[in-house]
Amino acid sequence: MNNILYCSVCDHDYAHLIGTIEVIDNDENQAVEFMINSKYSIAIKTKYEYRSQGNIHLLFRCEEGHFFIKSFDGHKGNIFMDENTLMDELTSYLNDVYQNEKDLFFTLNYDLLGNIEKFLKTQKIY
Ligand SMILES: [Zn+2]
Repeated sequence: MNNILYCSVCDHDYAHLIGTIEVIDNDENQAVEFMINSKYSIAIKTKYEYRSQGNIHLLFRCEEGHFFIKSFDGHKGNIFMDENTLMDELTSYLNDVYQNEKDLFFTLNYDLLGNIEKFLKTQKIY
């Protein structure tokens, strides 16, 4: 049991899986929908660098409060790990929004969902 996950911001070894993000793309390097926890759909069109042959992004939070994402994107036969600019920017956005939070939460709630949507709207294309 030594192969554990560390926070990519501070290396803390206590972390919680908050949720999953799956990106539905339109085959033209655009994302059109984001499915959070296979349950909440956010329909926003953004630039997406992968023509996806399957993808999944796991959103974690460490006990110091940092959000970080482990990202997997299928593209032309390869699986790219943690090479997703959009997910990196989402992580930075969430860490900014929640940086002064007093009571840390470790589950997906509507506030977090709303902030994910707010971020995606900043990336919106028409
Ligand atoms: Zn951390």
